[in-house]
Amino acid sequence: MTPAPEIPPPADHTAVIQLLDRVIAQTVAPAAVTVDRESTFPAASVQALAEAGLGGLLMPPSLGGRGTSTATYAEALSRIAAACGSTSTVYMTQMHCAHPIHLQGRPDQHEAWIPAICRGTAIGAIALTEPEAGSDVASMRTTARREGDSYVINGEKTFISNGDVADVIVLFATVDPSLGKDGITAFLVDTARTEGLEVGRPMKKLGQKGASTVTLGFQECRIPADARLGAEGEGYPLLLRSVTKSRISAAAQGIGFAQGAFDATVHYCAERDLLSSRTRSAQDIQFELARLRAEIAAGRSMLKEVCDLVDASGEDPTAEVSMVKMHCTTLGVRVASACVELLGDDGDRDDIGAERRLRDGKITEIYDGTNQVQSMLVARDIRLSVTP
Ligand SMILES: Cc1cc2nc3c(=O)[nH]c(=O)nc-3n(C[C@H](O)[C@H](O)[C@H](O)COP(=O)(O)OP(=O)(O)OC[C@H]3O[C@@H](n4cnc5c(N)ncnc54)[C@H](O)[C@@H]3O)c2cc1C
Repeated sequence: MTPAPEIPPPADHTAVIQLLDRVIAQTVAPAAVTVDRESTFPAASVQALAEAGLGGLLMPPSLGGRGTSTATYAEALSRIAAACGSTSTVYMTQMHCAHPIHLQGRPDQHEAWIPAICRGTAIGAIALTEPEAGSDVASMRTTARREGDSYVINGEKTFISNGDVADVIVLFATVDPSLGKDGITAFLVDTARTEGLEVGRPMKKLGQKGASTVTLGFQECRIPADARLGAEGEGYPLLLRSVTKSRISAAAQGIGFAQGAFDATVHYCAERDLLSSRTRSAQDIQFELARLRAEIAAGRSMLKEVCDLVDASGEDPTAEVSMVKMHCTTLGVRVASACVELLGDDGDRDDIGAERRLRDGKITEIYDGTNQVQSMLVARDIRLSVTP
């Protein structure tokens, strides 16, 4: 891996994390079990984070954000994930929507949406995936046909986080399927003003049950031409830049789920005096916890290093981002699974918390580009970097 330059933590980092921990303790963590059991959208938790000024960490202060480093964002997201997986997905999706608007939007598009997303008064979504275009996103079939001052959208998106509650959707569609990725163009869909948008029912899922995931159907949906984000054909590079941040988010969630499962297990063991006991079986547990703690610390360091690299490099370091996505999401599942095992039969109980992190974590290995696809990107980078 390319060595990351030394970047000292910005002065704001500690203040952000301390404030965040307070909001998590007061609102996010207490609601997490109910959000999971009842599959309720974690509106109060997302709103509490936004009201504390933590809704748009990566956005500039001039647009209502905090202008933090990527490392601070990732640390914050991992802590939210440790407390409540559903809240973390809604929260990161807000950023995944604001980020491309910030990168490619006009000033009036920035003003229209980014401050509201940061304040939590608008919910955002990002729509790339289609029933027949997931990993191979360039084969998307949703079309945008220009008609005078409008574009007419037709097609279907699937697995869209926040899709049923979104005020604004960053939509990727093609203006000409024969152009392949060069036809992909981004649009801002204002859901309140778009007729013909069909929103599916929230899917029943393994984990992150409060974070809604829906299909979106577009049938002759007319949106104004000035809702285009950037020029026609500029969608694909924007999409690639967007996934850099969303893969960092998935990696941060992986660390969070590992930490959440670990903390729940330590709490359980402490209550039963297993952390200080010298019996052989208690020591086995202590050593396993020590191993898991080291694994989480190593993953967290890797995440920090890649975040610093993202901020320092003008270009997005694809292979490093893929490696950290792959590594940290797998770590999340591995650690949560080890915690469930360590707890024995009690690992299966939903009031202890390890099984929730295991369920919440599994999908991080799949979304934002499956880990097999990340392996492919890393392997390609190895090939390119080896001189014959
Ligand atoms: C809870 C949830 C939330 C999501 N949120 C969003 C969202 O907000 N917005 C959005 O646009 N999408 C979202 N997604 C979609 C998600 O990003 C995609 O599902 C994911 O990228 C994988 O795409 P796919 O399901 O089409 O899998 P496919 O691409 O169909 O892959 C199927 C299998 O084939 C493998 N495979 C595919 N291509 C290759 C290859 N070239 N080499 C080796 N193996 C390969 C994959 O690894 C996988 O195992 C979400 C998904 C979920 C489950």
